[in-house]
Amino acid sequence: MSWSSPGGPGRLAGDGAVVARAPAKVNVHLAVGPLRADGFHELRTVYLAVSLFDTVTVRPGDGLALTLTGEGAAGAGADAVPTDRRNLVWRAAELLAERAGVPADATIAVDKSIPAAAGLAGGSADAAAALVALDALWGTHATRGELAALAAQLGSDVPFSLQGGVALGSGRGEQLSPVLARRRWDWVLGIAGEGLSTPAVYAELDRLRAAGRLPDGSDLDSPEPVIAALRSGPVPALAAALANDLQAPAVSLRPALRRALRAATDAGAQASLVSGSGPTVAALAEDEEDAVRLAAVLAGEGVYRTVRAVYGPVPGARLVG
Ligand code: ATP
Repeated sequence: MSWSSPGGPGRLAGDGAVVARAPAKVNVHLAVGPLRADGFHELRTVYLAVSLFDTVTVRPGDGLALTLTGEGAAGAGADAVPTDRRNLVWRAAELLAERAGVPADATIAVDKSIPAAAGLAGGSADAAAALVALDALWGTHATRGELAALAAQLGSDVPFSLQGGVALGSGRGEQLSPVLARRRWDWVLGIAGEGLSTPAVYAELDRLRAAGRLPDGSDLDSPEPVIAALRSGPVPALAAALANDLQAPAVSLRPALRRALRAATDAGAQASLVSGSGPTVAALAEDEEDAVRLAAVLAGEGVYRTVRAVYGPVPGARLVG
């Protein structure tokens, strides 16, 4: 990896702050293969970046310091997100500093709108936004390709959080190829009160497969129907093509999800599916107006903690301001 020599700070606001934001994702197709020797599952997934963003603000500092506001902040219960080395943002900062040969000096503030452990890749979004913001703060001038390589080391979903839009992911999900979406897709996200651990959902999938209660995954479903539907619509074509192999294990661990999925279709959603490893329910709407209506109906039902109308595709991690 070749790094240009540090060229001084990038785009700075008045107090030396650099701000970046990155989106949540929904997997509109998620096929999970058998467990690999390295402990990961082979994935074939189609990611869609949606308009729910975390914001990362970085300032000059002495060593690393991290604060968190919004979803998952201290006091938010069992899903409280760590603010030390265990936070993906901290690891992103250390990795970028090490690779670029600069001191890891920054005060980092993460404002989370993406709930933690929700299947929306919130931690990955934070890591991607941190890479972009710190690259500007430290003047390390990494290329997009260099940032993508660091992202892949941080986690399977981080490269997509950096890239955004729509993409086909293979390997652990980190190998991306772009997918064309000619139109905007409107969704309502039904967010649960308590998160689900991604490793626990994969372990439940393995358990259900070993017990013969689910197909073994050796035949990965093709993403082609979803890719064709995304390209040209209409909405019912995408509704019919949505698929997620993690939905059955997520429902097995969290039976209330069955009702949460049904509530969305009963309220008129074109389709509903679990987002990633859950427990967020992604309900596909006809258009923006329908999404606003659906969100209002679902908010009134009390099945979810929070309901958000979103759309995609949206860009990946970007500097703002
Ligand atoms: P995915 O959809 O990629 O499987 P997720 O959306 O279900 O992920 P995240 O919100 O990314 O889950 O976080 C999962 C766990 O990672 C959290 O429970 C938390 O302990 C840890 N974590 C580390 N850094 C962060 C961060 N910046 N934001 C949220 N969680 C973080």
